[in-house]
Amino acid sequence: MSVRVRFAPSPTGLLHVGALRTVLFDHLFALNQGGVNILRIEDTDRARYNPESENEFVETLKWVGIGFDEGPHIGGPHAPYRQSERKEAGIYAGWIQLLMEKGGAYKAFETPEELDEMREYQQINKMPTGYFGGKWRDASPDEVAAAEAEGKPFVIRQRIPKGTKIQIQDAIRGRIEWESDLIDDPVLIKADGMPTYHFAAMVDDHMMGITHVLRGEEWISSAPKHAALFDAFGWEKPIFVHCPVIVGKDGKKLSKRHGATRVLDYAAQGFLPHALKNFIALIGWSPGDDREILSPEELVEAFDIGRIQASPGRFDMDKLTWLNGHLIRSLSLDELWGELEKLVAFDYARNYHLEQEADPEETGDRKARWRALEALMGAEKGYALQCLKLEQERVLNLVDFGEACAFFLQDEPPMDPKAEAKWMGQEHVPALMAWIVAACDRVPAGFEEASLFWEETLRAFQAAAGLEKLGPVVHPTRVALTGKTVGPGLWELMAVLGGDRVRARAGRFAG
Ligand code: GLU
Repeated sequence: MSVRVRFAPSPTGLLHVGALRTVLFDHLFALNQGGVNILRIEDTDRARYNPESENEFVETLKWVGIGFDEGPHIGGPHAPYRQSERKEAGIYAGWIQLLMEKGGAYKAFETPEELDEMREYQQINKMPTGYFGGKWRDASPDEVAAAEAEGKPFVIRQRIPKGTKIQIQDAIRGRIEWESDLIDDPVLIKADGMPTYHFAAMVDDHMMGITHVLRGEEWISSAPKHAALFDAFGWEKPIFVHCPVIVGKDGKKLSKRHGATRVLDYAAQGFLPHALKNFIALIGWSPGDDREILSPEELVEAFDIGRIQASPGRFDMDKLTWLNGHLIRSLSLDELWGELEKLVAFDYARNYHLEQEADPEETGDRKARWRALEALMGAEKGYALQCLKLEQERVLNLVDFGEACAFFLQDEPPMDPKAEAKWMGQEHVPALMAWIVAACDRVPAGFEEASLFWEETLRAFQAAAGLEKLGPVVHPTRVALTGKTVGPGLWELMAVLGGDRVRARAGRFAG
């Protein structure tokens, strides 16, 4: 049996990290098994429907690089792939008719007031809440016909069998069993004729030949209803794969405190798509050895639903940042340039930095960070590449390259007052700067040659000035040229700056 999985989001809001984990597992599992990955849009809840949401899904999945074999934008043998369109095509009407004929569903005519009253009664008497039969489950055909003749509105409910056990096979937890008497009869078709999620999703899973249902563990409590529906139709049940919840490092439910929850925010913050995928894949799953960094191919090859754990997966922002830095360092300069070009051209990222309200806890200035990135990408490319090469070792997020490289582009980089006070007032500094200015005319061509030249020039000053250590030479030079005390190797950065820039910057402090 070839594997068929589906990602079935409801377009009610944003695409969050939890849903990304589900769709990533679908993607990896399908590729590992040579199976088919389907996108299905579950938009039957029209009250919560958000027209922006489907675009958000598409844009996010495009950014992370997860594609589908069938879906609303691709087509396929089971089209349409939006449930609202499937409803229009009459797909669910035939199945609910058949289910009622089989005794697996019935019409229920309670008014909203009657249902409220029932719930209140259950709460007061500390009974499980829900519809466990009410008046209509066992109503006679005459009673139903009479209510219909009166034109009373009705829903169609699932008749969960009584006095038996319902079970599913879960790839992570094994067999799970429920006493059927504890399961209420859910609505399958609403009063307006729209199918609910419970009905539409299971009919579609059957029709689309889904072999494994991957979804968050919050759906376990619905699983007996789903299993009972498959049983009532006499269909073979899929294997369920209920993935563990994702919690923060502190073990609490994942929230903004732990980092962004909207996936597109990671794109805007300068994470590489594969860093996020690698990181998310390892939340609640492991390749069975201690590898933490896996290429896209290695992820596919290692993926096995049997190694998804049942306990909550932890979301550790430091690990994501570490992974991102690692992947940034492993890019060729051309690839890095390409990633940065994609980022500055990405409207969402631009809006994120320039329009969206920043988090109060966020460090740095979003707007300044973005403007610096634009400035870098607008600079002469040959020079920008040399700057990037020096910063690639240290920068952990794409978006930070702009600020890291800013001093290369500014004629007079702003001075860190502390650094200036500490180093620039020292007695030997004017002579040191004059020494550097005098050398600027003699800088040889070529990066290696220029780096070596500056090292020799500054060591020569140290000797001439009788300084015991190189620090008093290196630190003021760095501060004069960059405004900061930290940055890439000094000889290399002087080579990249070139004689003219070094002359202008050092000249300000020369005696
Ligand atoms: N439409 C459901 C959701 O948005 C999908 C649940 C499932 O995968 O069965 O969460």
